[in-house]
Amino acid sequence: MRTPLIAGNWKMHKDNAEAVELIEELVSLLGKPLEVEVAVCPPFTSLPDVSGVLEKSRTSIRLGAQNVYPAAEGAFTGEISPLMLKALKVHYVIVGHSERREIFGESDEMVSDKLRAVLDNRLFPILCVGETLQEREGGEAESKVRRQLSDDLKSLDKEEITNLVIAYEPIWAIGTGKTATPRDAQDMTSLIREKIAGDYGDESADEIRILYGGSVKPDNIVELMAMHDIDGALVGGGSLDAISFSRIALYGT
Ligand code: PEP
Repeated sequence: MRTPLIAGNWKMHKDNAEAVELIEELVSLLGKPLEVEVAVCPPFTSLPDVSGVLEKSRTSIRLGAQNVYPAAEGAFTGEISPLMLKALKVHYVIVGHSERREIFGESDEMVSDKLRAVLDNRLFPILCVGETLQEREGGEAESKVRRQLSDDLKSLDKEEITNLVIAYEPIWAIGTGKTATPRDAQDMTSLIREKIAGDYGDESADEIRILYGGSVKPDNIVELMAMHDIDGALVGGGSLDAISFSRIALYGT
């Protein structure tokens, strides 16, 4: 039985005071025991204070980071190491978000190195994969996602694969208000699970959590979560407001 995960990616939004306000609201709205796991990924600048609020309130909401650099320390100006995240009690790390790949030119090789570093430091990666609109319209969506998975996961063994969460995020649905239809999202998440089964066996495929991301809102979460292979959501815009994000996290109630 896979526990659903609803993770909020705040991207480059919220200064520290706003981030603290948002997490305090979320803690009070999502304070009761939940059937889903909830995580928030604030900007680096507010990880310490958000971590402090989570710690003090003893909530089950987990802390995530939006990025990491695959080295313990060194001359990497502007970067943050897995050890620094661990010291702040970060649990999840988003790796390979399409904005990192598209805007910052992150290659699959870099994504693979980041996954390695996250796992080696006993943190839990949320790996994002997905196709552009042009690739979807050209009938290349499936081959793109398969290729990303092969390249990004090449160093992971059977013991490690279920410590990973995979987020299928069609790039054309991110921040655009266009959601993939539940059927399209199900088709791709099931393809991802089949690929994991082929590469790592049925047991790993049954266990691994696969999220959908792309304009998830309180209004579409229920139909997405009704799909067999969708185990949760990675939420951008819809996670920036406490009422909206808590309605998404409480979708079944
Ligand atoms: C995201 O960036 O991971 C995302 C899914 O964004 P949005 O929900 O805003 O489409």
